Amino acid sequence: MNKKRTKIVATLGPSTDDPKMLEAMIQAGLDVVRLNFSHGSFEEHQKRADMVRDLARRNGRQVGVMVDLQGPKIRIGRFQNDKIHLREDDLFALDPSWPLEGGTQECVGITYEPLPHDTRPGDRLLLDDGRIVVEVTEINGTRVHCKTIVGGDLSNNKGLNLQGGGLSAVALTDKDKEDIISAAKIQADYLAVSFPRSADDMHEARRLLSAAGGRAGLVAKIERAEAMKVLDEIIMASDAVMIARGDLGVEIGDESLPPAQKSIIKKARTFKRAVITATQMMESMIHNQIPTRAEVFDVANAVLDGTDAVMLSGETAVGKYPDKVVEAMARICYGAEQQRIAQTSNYRIHSDFVYIDEAIAMATMYAANHLHVKAIAALTESGSTPLWMSRISSGIPIYALSRSVETRRRVTLYRGVYPISFDVLDTDDSLTANYKIIDELKRQGAVEDGDLIIITKGDVPGLGGGTNVMKILQVGSQQASR
Ligand code: PGA
Ligand code: MN
Repeated sequence: MNKKRTKIVATLGPSTDDPKMLEAMIQAGLDVVRLNFSHGSFEEHQKRADMVRDLARRNGRQVGVMVDLQGPKIRIGRFQNDKIHLREDDLFALDPSWPLEGGTQECVGITYEPLPHDTRPGDRLLLDDGRIVVEVTEINGTRVHCKTIVGGDLSNNKGLNLQGGGLSAVALTDKDKEDIISAAKIQADYLAVSFPRSADDMHEARRLLSAAGGRAGLVAKIERAEAMKVLDEIIMASDAVMIARGDLGVEIGDESLPPAQKSIIKKARTFKRAVITATQMMESMIHNQIPTRAEVFDVANAVLDGTDAVMLSGETAVGKYPDKVVEAMARICYGAEQQRIAQTSNYRIHSDFVYIDEAIAMATMYAANHLHVKAIAALTESGSTPLWMSRISSGIPIYALSRSVETRRRVTLYRGVYPISFDVLDTDDSLTANYKIIDELKRQGAVEDGDLIIITKGDVPGLGGGTNVMKILQVGSQQASR
């Protein structure tokens, strides 16, 4: 089986609403869908989530659902004529007291009241993902006067960032709080928090989510300069992180993005967290049927950096070829994974282990990589052991066998981990369980007679966090291990 290990997250939108299109995406290697709560109604998102799960089931696949909160994205208001054109040196002002609907060539409203307090002359404000740059010259009452540094067209409701960060909007808006309740109703597998500044922002999201009965994994979107300063704490407070290169690049400068991507991936893996690399990975495929060479390299390099997943935004949500872009991305991931450095690891070789399941997972990967086993089968309740395993680079597939559908959906984000439905409580002795596991892997075409496999499990079937056994078996001669 030629399966890619790196997972693909794709944003749903008008371009993916045809079930045939979505099914083609699933068949091309889609693992997780992203519901972007910056757009659309609850009903629309619920409908999309239902359609994904239905199609996944019919295709014998698991596809995770990630709700992405809008967050406190700061936006300018609208223009009387929908857009203006700014030239270099043009004077322009932003003013929270200006009517949000009444922007002119000279001034526009803004959704962020404290702007005049949070900026100073000399600051650079970036509009529309940095396409337009203005410099603050003077602050007069609520009006922030600026001079245009980089001009261009500026249209309604574009985003605004302060270079270097420092705008202090709270991470969870009232809309986000409502949307967390919706995420719980949808039974989202992941909830992405936009613009968190601190671990506390993540803690608050988790509190609200569990109060609403949601059990999603929390994804911290790293997209603020401030977040980079407390990266360790934010990662620890989350289940996964997203390198949100769009907003992050605007805040820290594009030249700082590649090193940031590498260090976020490394840290996330060290802290046993999953990591998604996002934004503009296949941007040109919004309109074109093939990616640029630069895009091919970007995806491949993210795979070599060790990302769990690569993400598509506009490419699928509003693009012309959502199925072709998933297909191309899957192909590039698979190609990159064949390189030796993507499959070998010195990782954690000199570090101490803290948990028993961690030690079993590490021992398994060490043995698997050196003994050339064909597959790893982790019997898991929570997905913890396969997550540990997948922090180690390897070319060997890790099958997460779980009776919990939540866990099977959660692992859709983990690199090299493939979910299989398996109820450990169906068998009462562990030898029979081994046979059943092997039968299941054979049935899936994962192993054949003569192959070596490693099984990990706990002494007490069905108990979470209890993995303490690692077993090496040869398929077809299981009795040898009795
Ligand atoms: P967004 O986040 O698409 O919600 O803005 C990703 C990014 O900023 O890169
Ligand atoms: Mn963003």
